[in-house]
Amino acid sequence: MRLLKFDPMAKIAINLTTASIQQEEVIVGIDLGTTNSLVAYMHPEDRAAIAINDQGLGTIVPSVVHFGENGEAVVGNAAKDYLITDPANTIYSVKRLLGKSYQDLGAHKDFFGYKIIDDNSEGLVKIRVQDRFYSPIELSAEILKELRARAEHALKTPVNRAVITVPAYFNDSQRQATRDAGKLAGLEVLRIVNEPTAASLAYGIGLEPTEEKTIAVYDLGGGTFDISILKIHQGIFEVLSTNGDTYLGGDDMDRAIIEHWILGNRLVADLAAQDANTAQALRLKAEEAKKALSSQETFTAELNGVTLELDKHTFETLITPIVDRTMTSCRMALQDAGLAPEQIDTVIMVGGSTRVPLVYQTVSDFFGKPANNSLNPDEVVALGAAIQADVLAGNRKDILLLDVTPLTLGIETMGGLMDSIIPRNSKIPTKAGRQYTTSVDGQVNMKISVYQGERDLVKENRKLAEFDLKGIPAMPAGFPKVDVNFILNADGILKVEAIELRSGVRQEVEVKPQYGLTDEQVEQMLMDSITHAREDVSTRMVIEARTTAEQMIYQVERFLEKNGEHLTSEEINLTRQNVQHLKEVLPTGDKDTILKAVDVLEEQTSPFAERVMQISIKKAMTGKKIE
Ligand code: ADP
Ligand code: MG
Repeated sequence: MRLLKFDPMAKIAINLTTASIQQEEVIVGIDLGTTNSLVAYMHPEDRAAIAINDQGLGTIVPSVVHFGENGEAVVGNAAKDYLITDPANTIYSVKRLLGKSYQDLGAHKDFFGYKIIDDNSEGLVKIRVQDRFYSPIELSAEILKELRARAEHALKTPVNRAVITVPAYFNDSQRQATRDAGKLAGLEVLRIVNEPTAASLAYGIGLEPTEEKTIAVYDLGGGTFDISILKIHQGIFEVLSTNGDTYLGGDDMDRAIIEHWILGNRLVADLAAQDANTAQALRLKAEEAKKALSSQETFTAELNGVTLELDKHTFETLITPIVDRTMTSCRMALQDAGLAPEQIDTVIMVGGSTRVPLVYQTVSDFFGKPANNSLNPDEVVALGAAIQADVLAGNRKDILLLDVTPLTLGIETMGGLMDSIIPRNSKIPTKAGRQYTTSVDGQVNMKISVYQGERDLVKENRKLAEFDLKGIPAMPAGFPKVDVNFILNADGILKVEAIELRSGVRQEVEVKPQYGLTDEQVEQMLMDSITHAREDVSTRMVIEARTTAEQMIYQVERFLEKNGEHLTSEEINLTRQNVQHLKEVLPTGDKDTILKAVDVLEEQTSPFAERVMQISIKKAMTGKKIE
């Protein structure tokens, strides 16, 4: 049971069956976007998802945070004006920095108009505003606080719980960061949902338990482009592939228009060079022109006495290279999913830039069917998040919405091999475990290294965490029983626990990786696993042979030490020779040679164990009195 703070403004409902008074609490859906953010909720009577428009301010809250001299923050349209007048204290596109390290940003760090700090101690990016430092989590929390306040004000009820969306390609670190931002804004984040999943839900796709569909979600926003191919069956949303460009969107269209105006008119060039305010005004005019041409044929405006003109045909020529780049990504996404365009049942348009008619037409032509754009493309993700929130609130008992994990999770076993525990594409939440043991006598610590990726060798995968299971009582090799369990929650965040069953020694970690993966890296990891599959299998076999051999040598040598007295000197010499031979062939890395040498040693020494056992049984018997 959750205890709610009493709020006199809150709606009160009376439950007639239990005759109890309940405080109605909404769970909101939030689209935390790179350019714009929105909050939506499910209308309890109308049973429809609605984007919240507080005091007629509009549903869209620009994802911009401005800090005043005393460190007080303003968010949204009020902050947007400061992009020009006070760029150093005005933070935009913070979503690009969530869960990322300085290295992840690479060449893109110059993209930002504010100061990004390389904080070596944590590895994660920080932003400097005057003499204060903010993490992208704190900045995202400011945006979430604003959305929460608007929802509380408009609905006149406390808002404490939310579902927040993220791009499908977001990794563990970025999802965790989003969740933390929610927490910091005072929200209990019930679920992190993929944006394309939310968009599908808004269109009612996936709400029917028997439904089976393959869909493409084309999302062109202000500064990013994402294409996701999803397979939906029995309420499970499986991401078949994702592709896109994290630096491509509507802003590039605005820039193309400005360049065109500058090239065509010296007076515009002078305007652009005048001062920051005029340059920004010009940028806004370009955006205005673009939006106008989504519904009309020509655009004319004036700025400081200079006429600005654009017709639809010219605009379309200007943006063709941008649209073409998105189509290349679509082709790649389909290829990765192993599908042809005609195998896509439904295409969904998301993001403000899909209002451009050329974009809509090109996408529809490519997939050979009209794309779905009946819902407001700015709102569709937030609306879907509100529907997911409604499902989680228990208002729709008929469906269960599940996501799947995009990359395999496992641990390192002897020889640097990846032992998969939760395979890629498993439905989440999920839990899986395996039992391991020690390889050396008296081993009291066991290192558990957790990896994510598809390759057979851990060094090719991404390390998520490492911890020691300490205090295992000293036992012979192979005796301890260590259960390693992976618990993957519905957000795709992993918890790992290790328990030594004989002693009850236990250790657990919540996996919080330090470094974010770039989108290119995630893609590369999947590609590599396919291209290197054959090579990986043979490497794995060599490593397994070598591990077997090393264990064999260790055991035989220990046996000689302990039980040498029961063997003849001839037997000892032969054993030593065979061990020596095995040690010599080990570095060759030739699997067959190694295994042959293992067989020889094994065959020669196997009778010894039997003999020693007989002797020790006899000893034990003579030592005991039988009454
Ligand atoms: P994000 O998901 O990145 O936060 P949005 O989906 O809100 O972004 O898209 C914002 C972009 O959509 C901006 O570049 C904006 O200019 C563009 N946009 C909004 N309305 C229109 C329109 N009518 N025609 C063309 N572009 C539009
Ligand atoms: Mg978006």
